[in-house]
Amino acid sequence: MDISIVIPLFNEQDSLDELTSRLDTVLKKYTYEIIYIDDGSIDNSWLTIETLAKNNINIKAIKFSHNFGKTQALNAGFAKAQGEIVFTMDSDLQDFPEEIPEMYQIMLAKNYDILSGWKLKRQDPVLTKNIPSKLFNYVARMSSGIKIHDFNCGLKAYKKVVVKSIELYGDMHRYIPILAKNNGFNKIGEKLVKHTTRKHGVSKFGSKRFINGFLDLITLLFVSKFANKPMHFFGTFGILTFVLGFFSAFYIGMEKLIKLFLLDIPEKLITTDPWFYISLTLMIIGTQFFLAGFISELINNSKRKHLLYSIQEYINFK
Ligand code: UDP
Ligand code: MG
Repeated sequence: MDISIVIPLFNEQDSLDELTSRLDTVLKKYTYEIIYIDDGSIDNSWLTIETLAKNNINIKAIKFSHNFGKTQALNAGFAKAQGEIVFTMDSDLQDFPEEIPEMYQIMLAKNYDILSGWKLKRQDPVLTKNIPSKLFNYVARMSSGIKIHDFNCGLKAYKKVVVKSIELYGDMHRYIPILAKNNGFNKIGEKLVKHTTRKHGVSKFGSKRFINGFLDLITLLFVSKFANKPMHFFGTFGILTFVLGFFSAFYIGMEKLIKLFLLDIPEKLITTDPWFYISLTLMIIGTQFFLAGFISELINNSKRKHLLYSIQEYINFK
């Protein structure tokens, strides 16, 4: 099969008819599947999909028991996708299905692992979406080293091996390119795509997205560097902090002893010295860091199996 289109949706009943017929039109000359993942809609989305699927063998669908989120929906779709190139797109008609054939050609021609859409003329409110999104993309670009402008663009194309190699969790759908790069898939391209305002329904992400988005980014950067070796992070900090605390305490103690016994100067109690408390705190924090690292290693050890590698290709395996 050439192409899979993975489409998460949550309460998008009014867009599905048009979306399906436009997809069918542009995909005519390919073998393809449209995988709808109904992420716990409470409107008539699922009914609409059932009706559409009755006389369209290219439609496949998954229904969640309740609203788990876009990331989880994508994950479920990726698990089932069979096309050599897997597309993701939003179901709200903001992305254009008409971009798919060209993106498909580029994927093949350039042998990209990922081709990300880039909404140059983004049709969303400037203050609540466009500006925060610029900032967000800047941080993501700088910290990941992936030179794309629009991490959050719903329209992206992936090689099948890429989507099969990554495990999404939390709200990580914004960072699939970073997860993929961590797995060694770093041929990442970008194509300008059209974008339009929402026709039906409302946006499903509030302003909380930016705080959550940044927290996820921090998690991700941490995880990508240290997931397999948490002790390297916590241990380093722990030891540094502890050593700093220990030597300050040692210094304070020695200073007092020397003054007292060698120089015969009467010294004040070391507990009146603020450094004493700082040293103690540093030693305690250091120990905590160290323990955190140790516990992370223990946890890692029990689930080592699927963290260590990702496969790029098979020959002759089913
Ligand atoms: N979506 C989903 N589950 C959710 C939230 C959103 O499947 O919990 C889908 C939604 O139906 C749409 C896509 O994810 O197809 C993008 O959502 P939305 O258009 O609300 O995001 P925005 O365009 O405002 O960034
Ligand atoms: Mg949208």
